[in-house]
Formats: sequence, C-alpha cells, structure tokens
Amino acid sequence: MFRTLTSRLTVRYTILFAVLSIVVFVIVYATLSSSMKQKVDKELQEEVVEFGGLYQAQGLATLDAVLQHEAASEGLDRAFFLLLSPEKEIRASSDLSSWQGIDFMPDDLDELGENQHVLRTISIPDRARNVRVIYKRLVDGHLLEIGVSVEDKDALMAMYREMFLTAIMVMILCGSIMGRFTARRAMSGVERVTQAAVSIGKDNINQRVLPGNEGAEIDGLATAFNDMLARIQNLLAELQDVTNNIAHDLRSPITRIRGIAETTATGEAGIEEYREMAGIIVEECDRLVEMINTMLEIATADSGLAKFSHEPVNVGELVAQSCDLFSPLAEEKSIVLECKIPPESIKIETDIARLQRAVANILDNAIKYTPDGGTVSVKVERDGQTAMILIADSGIGIVPSDLPRIFERFYRGDHSRSSSGNGLGLSYADAVIRAHGGKILVESLQTKGSSFTVVLPGIIESS
Ligand code: ADP
Repeated sequence: MFRTLTSRLTVRYTILFAVLSIVVFVIVYATLSSSMKQKVDKELQEEVVEFGGLYQAQGLATLDAVLQHEAASEGLDRAFFLLLSPEKEIRASSDLSSWQGIDFMPDDLDELGENQHVLRTISIPDRARNVRVIYKRLVDGHLLEIGVSVEDKDALMAMYREMFLTAIMVMILCGSIMGRFTARRAMSGVERVTQAAVSIGKDNINQRVLPGNEGAEIDGLATAFNDMLARIQNLLAELQDVTNNIAHDLRSPITRIRGIAETTATGEAGIEEYREMAGIIVEECDRLVEMINTMLEIATADSGLAKFSHEPVNVGELVAQSCDLFSPLAEEKSIVLECKIPPESIKIETDIARLQRAVANILDNAIKYTPDGGTVSVKVERDGQTAMILIADSGIGIVPSDLPRIFERFYRGDHSRSSSGNGLGLSYADAVIRAHGGKILVESLQTKGSSFTVVLPGIIESS
C-alpha cells in the first residue's frame, strides 16, 4: 500500500496536519484554561480583601449580613462564604447546605500567617464539580473562606475539547484528502514521463517526452530523459553506420579475394601462380583486418567508449617525430618537407599513440596528394591555451563539393581513386581530435593545395 510515493506523501501530509492541529489545540486549550483560572483567582482575591476590610471596619454582624446577601445573589450552590474564628468556630457564613462534603477547616492552614492567603481547587465527589476556594487569615486570626463553583468554566472547557476534537478529525480528513490531491498532482509529471518512457520502444526511439507545466523538476527530468534518448539514438545510428559500412565497403575486398582465388583455381595454374595468389590474399586480408580495426577505433572514439590514456606530451616533439618518419617518403617524391617546431615546450594531456596516428594520417595525405616536386609545410604554434598543428601542402587540393564530406567514413574524393587509401584516414583523425576536445579545420583551393589545422585545447603550463 505504501509502495507509491503518492501514498507516502499522503500519509506524511496527514500526519503533519494531525500534529499541527493537536499542537494548536494544546496551546489554545492551555492558554484558555490558565486565563480562566487567573480570572477566577483575581476575583476571589479582590473579594477576600473587600470582605476582610468590611469585617475589620464594621464588625461581624455587618459582614454576616453582607455574606448572606452576596451568596443569595450569586446563587447558594454557586458560591459560599465563611468566617472561622482562630478556634475553628464558624462565626459567620452563607447557607452551606449545598456544600456538604467540603472540609471547611483544613488542619494544614493553621500555619497560615496574618494577611496571607492560599488558593485551592477542591473537588466535591458526589456533585462531580470543582470549587475554587480562597483562604485568608485576617489580622485578628480569623480565617475568611470564599468558594466559587467553577462548574461553568469546566463545562466550557469540556465543550471546547469536544469541539476541537471534532475539528481535528475534520482537519485530518481534509489534510489526507488535500495531501492525496497535492501528491497526485506533484507526481503526475513523473507518471507522464514514465508513461512516455514505457511507450518509447525500439521502433519509435525518435519520440520525445513533451514539456508539461508540472514544474521545473519534472521539466528537468523530461529533458534529461530526452537527452539520454538522443544519445542512445546517436549510438544506434553509429552502430547502424558501422554495420552498413561493413556490409558495403568490406564486400569489395572480399569479392576481390574471392575473384583471385577463383581465377587461380579455375585456370591452369602452377605452383608459382598459387604462391602469388596466396601472397595477394594475405595482403588483402591484412588490409581488411586493418580496416576493421580502424573502423572499430573510430566508432569507439566517436561514442566516447574508447579508453584514452592521458599523458602530458610535448606536441612539438610529437610532430617532429612524425616529420622524421615521413621525410623518406617526401624525399622519394622530391617533395620539400618543412617542419617548424617552436623551441618552447607546448604540452597537452593526450593519448600519444592515437594523436601520433591522427597527425600521421593528415601528413600522409598531404604527401600523397601533392605531386612530385611540391612542398609540404608543417608548423606547431601556440594560441593562448590552445596548441595548433598546421599541415599545408601545394598539392591537388580538394573539390569544394568534397570539402564537407572528406571526414565521412570511407569517403574518397574522385581524384583520389587512383591513389592508395581506404577513406578512413581523416575519419580516424577527426574522431580522435574531437575526443580530445579539439577540432580539425580545412582550407583548400583546387590545384593550389590544402591546409589542415589541428586545434588542441588545454595546454598544461610546465612548472
Ligand atoms: P584516403 O584514404 O582516400 O586518403 P582520407 O580519409 O584520408 O582517405 O581522406 C578522404 C579524402 O579527402 C581523400 O580521398 C581525398 O579526396 C581528400 N583529401 C584528404 N587530404 C587531402 C589533401 N591533403 N589534398 C587533397 N585531398 C585530400
């Protein structure tokens, strides 16, 4: 029953209402009862002073007459008056017949000093009501007693108790109804998001939870849920892409392998031809494995699942090594490879192997797509907190319509078909640099050359 948050909230609201009502009741009751008591006591004190004064000024007879009159006008069963001598003899009193059962001469008052008084509440058992009594010792040792019935006050307090108990019941009931209503309203947004989540299956993953008016928290939940859906959708699209690429781009090398094997097997082949075929198949298989590995690397880097290492690396040094690595290739094509590395260290935290491979891919393209005798220049620069690697060539350039597509997986420009490659080099570089929080910028003019700028943020200041 209490599994849902709505019922728990309802119970909490109800308890809160009940506790608050009871606290209010107790405070009001205590204040009311004490102020009533104070009022009665004050009246009694005033009367005892008045009658004490009268006794001293005008004597016993006058007091007796006044007491009789006072009791009669007050009601004989509502108040009594009594004057006791020091020897505990009744010297004057009102009609005491309604006050049977009261001890008018309590022994413990013998010690009460002159002009002192005490106030007591006495209950009369057979009449089930209380009497408030004041005892005052007069200067000549007499004890003046005045008692008033507090029946009315008790009845009022009892009525108040009953009324309040009913009110508390009603408030608790209202509290639980309101609590349930409020909790349901607060939870309605969560329910809506849950419903939407349940209804989103694999076929309608592009559906989203619509914004409602249940408050910022629910909007936050809906936004977080939608963001998560978007990420899942991206991953699914990524997976779909990889699957499509595998289906499409791996088919041709496999068909080629199969063709070679078939031609050799069906022709009149000698051992030499078989050797040659085996060699080609091994080469093709190696290329295939490399392609598959690169595709997986790109997919994991793009999805954020790749485990990159984070070592502090001097970008200048890393690029200089790449230049060294490619200088024989450049020399072979009589390409001038200029490498400008600044003397100061430009350090960033990076996965050294992956960054090296990304830079190598761009440099390899620059040399590959530059005709013999051209120039390739490599520079490392610092721009504020960002490291820049600039690789420019005087090569064939990129057709403007190809520019937005060169980072796509397996995309190869038309003019590149004659050169070796699988269309994954720039996709890999792009995925790795983006995973580092950076980007690759390209500018190219057909027949004039291209320039790639790798932007890597987060330079570490060397101490
Ligand atoms: P590829 O294996 O074809 O080199 P890449 O992903 O490395 O694949 O590059 C994608 C395409 O971008 C290339 O096919 C080529 O058309 C174009 N490209 C890349 N770098 C250059 C460059 N430096 N000069 C001219 N074209 C380039």
